[in-house]
Amino acid sequence: MELPPIVQTGAAVLRAHATELTPAQLATAEIQALIATMIEVMRDAPGVGLAAPQIGIPLRVIVLEERAEVVSTLTEDELREKERVAFATRTIVNPVLRMLGETRAMFFEGCLSVHGYAALVERHHEVEVTGLDEHGSPIHWQVSGWPARILQHEVDHLDGTLYIDRMQTRTFSTVAHVRDRFAGRTIAQIRAELGV
Ligand code: ZN
Repeated sequence: MELPPIVQTGAAVLRAHATELTPAQLATAEIQALIATMIEVMRDAPGVGLAAPQIGIPLRVIVLEERAEVVSTLTEDELREKERVAFATRTIVNPVLRMLGETRAMFFEGCLSVHGYAALVERHHEVEVTGLDEHGSPIHWQVSGWPARILQHEVDHLDGTLYIDRMQTRTFSTVAHVRDRFAGRTIAQIRAELGV
């Protein structure tokens, strides 16, 4: 199967409010195929999340996953600071997010629709999400750390928001610069240097 391209920033679909799906729509072959395609596109990129508008479909569907084989390549420092953990593939239809607590976390974030760049973005540390899974069953997921960041990023896509709207603009960098300048340094050190 040929995969659809990932829509890049500037396209109107990335700035639109995506539409909810009814359970009846969700059960159709068309939407089930959309979900399967989204998971393939996410893995092919590779990425840890994808929202339907990123392949040009203005519907409230997100997919996310963090594979154990990727997490196993990270250093202990990276795992601790990002609070990255592996989790199985999840599809969430009509997600509704609730931010929990006051704690926030700042970390580098990128987007498949803003290819080649990253920036520091502050997010809530813990969230809960409700919605439907791919079968139309209600889900409730309360999560903190890295998966909470991915969830906030992907649900933003459904409301036409990109991380560049929330980023610390002075930290906006190519992925290569992030790797060369900041690898092995703590977020506190990076913030001090950049004055954010
Ligand atoms: Zn994105």
